Amino acid sequence: MSDSYDVIVIGGGPGGYPAAIRATQNGLKAACIDGWKNQDGSHAFGGTCLNAGCIPSKALLESSELFHRAGHEFKAHGIAVPGLAIDIAAMQKRRAQIVKGMSGGIAMLFKSAGVTGLPGTGKLLAESGADGARVVEYTTLDGKVEKLTAKQVVLASGSVPTPLRSAPVDGKHIIDSWGALELPAAPERLGVIGAGVIGLELGSVWQRVGSKVTILEALPDFLSVADRQLAGEALKQLRKQGLDIKLGAKVSSATVKNGAVHVSYTNAGGEQQLTVDRLVVAIGRRPYTEGLLGEGTGVQVDERGFIVVDEHCRTGVPGVWAIGDCVRGPMLAHKAKDEGLMVAELIAGRYGHMDYNIIPSVVYTAPEMAWVGQSEDQAKAAGVQVKIGSFPFVASGRARAMEATAGFAKIVADAATDRILGVHIIGPMAGELIAECVLAMEYGATCEDLQRTIHAHPTLSEAVHEAALAADKRAIDTLNR
Ligand code: FAD
Ligand code: NAD
Repeated sequence: MSDSYDVIVIGGGPGGYPAAIRATQNGLKAACIDGWKNQDGSHAFGGTCLNAGCIPSKALLESSELFHRAGHEFKAHGIAVPGLAIDIAAMQKRRAQIVKGMSGGIAMLFKSAGVTGLPGTGKLLAESGADGARVVEYTTLDGKVEKLTAKQVVLASGSVPTPLRSAPVDGKHIIDSWGALELPAAPERLGVIGAGVIGLELGSVWQRVGSKVTILEALPDFLSVADRQLAGEALKQLRKQGLDIKLGAKVSSATVKNGAVHVSYTNAGGEQQLTVDRLVVAIGRRPYTEGLLGEGTGVQVDERGFIVVDEHCRTGVPGVWAIGDCVRGPMLAHKAKDEGLMVAELIAGRYGHMDYNIIPSVVYTAPEMAWVGQSEDQAKAAGVQVKIGSFPFVASGRARAMEATAGFAKIVADAATDRILGVHIIGPMAGELIAECVLAMEYGATCEDLQRTIHAHPTLSEAVHEAALAADKRAIDTLNR
């Protein structure tokens, strides 16, 4: 038996690494074991988010959007860009550099906070050490095995793409989201299975830089998790940009022949065929717990593979917690991070809490989408008499100046109490605008609170202000309906 810690975190993604840092900020001795392996076999902290998720996708979204705007919007500003071209290799090099810089940053953060970063894999064992400490088997990257002990263990092992039996990933023609982030060139024809967040974001990237993108979505409804009005506007805008989104499309097979992928699917019109050069499978993610739990630890895993936890991320086994994508709730980096912080506070005997009803969602397409709280339908289904206020970006001076007038901000509020129940924004910088609404909801704000808050002019945030005014039919810059 060698090193002992107050806290060992297994998994160094956006759930695990903040938990380890906060533990040391709380005066505890913490280690973070992480087994991420890049495609070249190198190790990096940061998990899916930094290495194959949030960060690389946003890097590509930014590059491809700039290219799109230069080709489609600059003209309206009087800017001519003769010979406009995109160098995909340079775009990918930038993406890789950003990822490398960010994951290297975590090693630095660990050093400065005093977290022991341990590259390799961790397994919680059933046995216990002296005075009931938990025992973790740590396997280094070169295969050395040692036992570590800790008073508390946080499981943060994340998730992996859900496979689809009818379209098995071969890593070359049929790829997952990681493969789609690292494509060396824009395929002439790109197919995507799943019109979820990944399908829309990565579909947008490759469509903007030249691919003909077809997205096959099994459900008849588009973005079923979103407010219906927002989803309707998003579908309209994304189709207008050229994304061919086919709803109610159930894939029965995908086979590779002569370098192309032949996809068979059925929809309301019967059996259909689609031929593409690359096919991305993006039908969701599933929790990853392989090799994480030794025999007899007592940690429960449900039928979908999620580690079972209570609202404070306790597994029920003393001293063992689980956070992030490997437990219930939305698979989002900020949800994972906040759970990590909550657990590190609770372990230190401090206050820790998550409000699972106020977790924002952002889809980084153009227009961007962001929402928090209840949709109009959800509030109505809960029996609340709602009032709705909405403001179109076409009426925003700043949005007009930005050539970004598509979309709206919409507030759902309780008609009786005026309390804000949800906010749904599709439009420029929606992901930034939603932060004000999250804060408002955290403080239990009403529409009147937002109405009486001064918003700088001309800013996009005025759309939120005007939507709050519109909820009481007192909007100034748009028609009150
Ligand atoms: P992960 O980030 O998956 O990290 C888990 C880590 O644990 C990994 O490094 C893994 O190798 C390691 N591990 C697993 N088992 C062991 C073990 N036994 N021993 C040691 N290490 C182990 N979310 C957002 O909020 N915003 C976005 O914009 C966004 N974009 C995304 C784009 C894409 C393409 C994808 C795929 C996901 C995106 N997500 C986004 C989701 C986000 O990446 C996840 O919700 C988030 O990474 C979950 O964090 P986590 O710490 O729970 O798990
Ligand atoms: P998702 O759950 O967002 O979307 C999957 C889509 O695939 C759904 O619309 C679903 O109906 C559809 N689908 C499922 N089975 C299908 C089938 N057999 N054929 C056709 N369609 C099918 O999942 P995702 O897009 O893979 O993303 C995975 C996770 O990563 C999500 O939980 C998401 O929250 C997270 N993520 C977040 C962001 C962000 O926050 N901006 C970006 C990317 C990923």
